[in-house]
This record gives sequence, C-alpha cells and structure tokens, in this order.
Amino acid sequence: MLTRTVRIPRFFYVNKGSITKINEILNLEKVESTRTVIVSGKNFTKSVGDLVQRSIEGDSSRVDVENNDIQSIKEVENVIKIFEPSLVIGTGGGKVLDITKFCAYKLNKPFLALPTVLSNDGISSPVSVVQTEHGVSSIGTNPPIGIIVDIDIIRKSPKSTILAGIGDLISNFSAIEDWNLASKHVGEKIDKFAEILSRNSVEGFMQYLIRNGSSLLDEHTLISLAEGLIQSGIAMSLAGSSRPCSGSEHLISHALDKLLNHAKPHGLQVGLATLFTHTLRKRDISDLTALYRRIDFPDTPEDLGIQMSTFMDAIRNAPATRKDRFTILNLVSDKEIKEAIKIAYGR
Ligand SMILES: [Zn+2]
Repeated sequence: MLTRTVRIPRFFYVNKGSITKINEILNLEKVESTRTVIVSGKNFTKSVGDLVQRSIEGDSSRVDVENNDIQSIKEVENVIKIFEPSLVIGTGGGKVLDITKFCAYKLNKPFLALPTVLSNDGISSPVSVVQTEHGVSSIGTNPPIGIIVDIDIIRKSPKSTILAGIGDLISNFSAIEDWNLASKHVGEKIDKFAEILSRNSVEGFMQYLIRNGSSLLDEHTLISLAEGLIQSGIAMSLAGSSRPCSGSEHLISHALDKLLNHAKPHGLQVGLATLFTHTLRKRDISDLTALYRRIDFPDTPEDLGIQMSTFMDAIRNAPATRKDRFTILNLVSDKEIKEAIKIAYGR
C-alpha cells in the first residue's frame, strides 16, 4: 500500500511573548541559528525585527523591505548572499513573509516565519506571491521550517487584519460544501484527511468564540484563530491544492480583485461572500450573521465599501476566474442568484 509524504513546517509555537523565547525554541528544535538574516517591514514590523535581533544569540544581519517587488527581492537576496546565514527569519505581514520565503527557497536556506498579523491561511503554505517580470505570480517554494506567533504582537495589529483572518477561516465552511458538490457532480476526488482538517479548523474556532463570547483581542481567541489558520494551511498542503479552503466565495473574491481599483482585504471579501454562497445552498445563515454583527464583520457589500452592482458583476465573473474549479455557481440561475442576494444581504 502506498503512503504519502507531505511537506509541512516542523514546529509551531503560539503564545504571549513567544518572540522573546526564540532562542529557547530554536535550541529545543535543534535549529542552527549562529548566523541569521532577519527580514522585516519598514514600519511597526521593523520594531518587531529589532526585538527578534535583541532576543536571538549569534551574529545577525538585517534588511527592511517595503513591498514584494523585484527591487525588494534583490535587496533580500543580496544580504543573504553576502552574509551566508544558517537561518533566514521573516517577520511581518504577508508581503514580507512571501518575499523572505521566496528568497530563502531560491538560495537554499531554511526559513522561519514570525507573522505579525493573522489575516489569512497562507502562513504555513509552500507558496510565495511575489512580483516578477511577468507580473504578480504565485511561486511554489518550501514551507517555513517553523512558525512562531507572538500573541502580544498580534494584539497590536489592526482589527481589520484579525477580522480578515476570521473571514478566511469561516470561508472553509463554504469551500468544503463546494468540494462535496464537485465530487457529486463531476466526480472530483475528496481527500478526507484534508476535509476533516479544514472543517475542524473553523469549527474549533467558532465553538470557542460562541461558547466563550470572548472579545477578539482575548488571548485564547487569538491563539484559537492562529491554530485554525495554520490547520487550514496544513489541509491545503495535504490536498496539494487550495481546494479544502477555497470555493465559490474565493472565486467571487478573485473577481472582485479584478473589478475593484483597490481590492478589500482578502479575508473580508471571502467572509462576506460566504453569506451569499451559503444562502445559495439554502443554508441557514442566521448564526453566522449574528456572529458577524457581534464582532463588527462587514455583513453587506456596502458595509465593505463595495457597490451592490459591482458585487453582482463579481458573482457573474467568478466562475471564469478559475474554470477548473466546480462550485455552486455552476449550478444556479440568475434568478436564484438575485433571490439569494436578497436573503443574504437584505436587499
Ligand atoms: Zn483565502
């Protein structure tokens, strides 16, 4: 019987003050860290980079980047080539982590991720979204060797980024339903392990939030969110595609990215679209809507600053953004779409 090998990070620590314990963690995990390159952003994450540099033993070199563009990639690559570190550490949001992961992969160095926001489920992924000569591309890389999330740092991140992380996690409910529909209608194979992980990641978080009625900045809420997003990433690594965590709601978000001059945060777009795709499937969304209102998550397109006509265009354009992905949008009429919009968003 054949088994499979999945590449995922070796370790994951999430706690208060975990960055200040980085030495202990690296020693415990037997990670060679005598020479490190620390990459951060230029604003708040620069101070986190300083904290990492103060907390870690051995020699280190720093580079601060602003974007995930070609110039920033060259800067990071140059520092790694000159300093020859045994470990490359990225601390920041998605862009900083993406270019650090990409450069470390290109130069064959292990990469440690220290996210400063929890805005999406890409933290543990073996993919980097960076700018190339051909535009923005998703490039296959190695996953991070480990992930350290410091809740004291996450607590200082903008509330919109925490909401975006929640939206990306909640969208798993919709993605799993689409995966099952694809299995039923076009015979797509479901990876049961990935499906269970994806579902448990969001159910665990929702149960915590509903049972405890806790605030978004509560330590355990944030730990539960970090754990959920990391589990989602592992589900995608297991499946070898984004399928367990990306269905029709993600296609609508991709269409919005193309229609809007300035797209809204990914997690907010997919969380909002989940209300609609769930309604299309005749699911009861009252619990979800009540939760959105309680945590101030946008529950209509207008709430997120998107005109309803643009949102409708995005729904119609959505299937074309990824033709190989069968979803509920392949099965419904324009009339059903309009009715679901009315129920989902009260319009
Ligand atoms: Zn997503």
